[in-house]
Amino acid sequence: ADRIVVKIGTSTLIRQNSKINLKVIKELAHVLSTLKKDGKDVVLVSSGAIGVGMGVLGIDKRPIKISKQQAVAAVGQAELMQIYNEAFHEYGMSVAQMLITRDIIDYPESHTNVMNSFQELLSMENTIPIVNENDTVTVSELDHHTKFGDNDQLSAIVANLVDADLLIMLSDIDGFYSANPLKVPDAKLVSSIQTISPAIIAAAGGHGTKFGTGGMTTKLKAAELILKHNQEMVLTNGKDPNVIFNILSGDPVGTLFS
Ligand code: ADP
Repeated sequence: ADRIVVKIGTSTLIRQNSKINLKVIKELAHVLSTLKKDGKDVVLVSSGAIGVGMGVLGIDKRPIKISKQQAVAAVGQAELMQIYNEAFHEYGMSVAQMLITRDIIDYPESHTNVMNSFQELLSMENTIPIVNENDTVTVSELDHHTKFGDNDQLSAIVANLVDADLLIMLSDIDGFYSANPLKVPDAKLVSSIQTISPAIIAAAGGHGTKFGTGGMTTKLKAAELILKHNQEMVLTNGKDPNVIFNILSGDPVGTLFS
């Protein structure tokens, strides 16, 4: 895979005590910088703005009001990008912030603009684009009813847009299981999936942590979009981002959707 999109979920970035997991961010910066220096094209899609914002503002519960969530996300996004910027600078890399909305699918002009920006950024030697949904403009990620544009699906849209060879989705779980392991302790890891059947959708439960957003349902929607475009996606645990090297060397890791 020469062009890789990596999505990292809130549950991997934020610890249960609301502190950001700096170790994971530093390791991720190391891995992605190494890949970029090896000549690969790398895009990072990062969640976590609300979780980080909650930490900055000293809030323990995710606010219910959407406008409040948007405000918290705006605070967290600035902090998160500062942390990424510092982490990537260690490896001589700059980061580019790309805040996008679903307009990029609905409006051809927006689509073209985003695509052109990606092409320029990917052609730069020492720059890693970091994408998030523009939370102050769109409510989809935050709104549990529509669940359209959360970063799981956004990462698949980005992978489609840049024609990535692989989408790597880093979560707090080793892959897709036959049932939600939090509820069914003897659930089994499914190592490869070719079609998103109704039985698979039925095996996806909700989210497991106080911060995570979509749970498995939105990850399966992302996988559907990836399979529709004949692309590949690996879902695995992001606690050690070095796993990305294993995936790229072809080791069986997590769940492969292909
Ligand atoms: P992220 O923040 O990485 O997007 P989420 O918390 O939204 O992660 O989703 C991951 C969670 O989905 C897991 O921790 C698990 O509790 C839950 N889950 C529900 N059904 C399944 C399943 N069939 N296989 C694996 N995980 C599942």
